[in-house]
Amino acid sequence: MNLFKPYRFLNKEQIESKANDILMQMKKEDFHLNWPFDASLVADALGIRLCWDKILPDNNGIIAAKIEPIKRLITINELFSEIKTNKGLEQSTIAHEIGHWVLHVNQDEADGIVKQLELALNCQATPQLFLCRSIDKSGYQTTLNSKVDIEWQAQYFASCLLMPRYILEEKRRGRNLQSWPHLYAMADELGVTISNLKNRLQDLGLIYIPKGSKQIYLGNSTPNGQQGLF
Ligand SMILES: [Zn+2]
Repeated sequence: MNLFKPYRFLNKEQIESKANDILMQMKKEDFHLNWPFDASLVADALGIRLCWDKILPDNNGIIAAKIEPIKRLITINELFSEIKTNKGLEQSTIAHEIGHWVLHVNQDEADGIVKQLELALNCQATPQLFLCRSIDKSGYQTTLNSKVDIEWQAQYFASCLLMPRYILEEKRRGRNLQSWPHLYAMADELGVTISNLKNRLQDLGLIYIPKGSKQIYLGNSTPNGQQGLF
């Protein structure tokens, strides 16, 4: 038996449903879910410990965090300086690792296997995952690049966990989604990075920002009616 589930395609609805199920279960268990969200609460609910420690770079570069399923332990790399000063990135990284646990770890095996395996997250991939997704949105399905895809899945899970639709609805009230200052204020209230929020809103079809532009359009298409990529 393998500690990691074999690769399988998961669509956005399936991933969002997994994230929502966890939040619902936490509510039933009387966890107080507040925003800005504290993803470590989800780790608590799932019986996963969190720690900060030094993780040395490997051949692929700096590592942001890792999850060791057998130890039920997420380690955030204290050598990854950006994460120490960016609370949203910290939350996104924790939620991303939880995403691997929920989506990719064979949890029954994790408790039974003695051999230690680690799933490392390359830090260079973390902030760029959304970029990768926009480039590879169709590519990951056709090329079946499972490594890229599981990273995308974990990051999409993180986005759904940190920004469930009902909270986004609440936080957008009275906001102008075409205004960057309003989006920054929303990101602060949600406890996420502006990139996370921007991508989530685009995924939901609430806004569209043409590639290379700072102009925000409402909806999921450009003014001339062309459909956006998201
Ligand atoms: Zn990852």
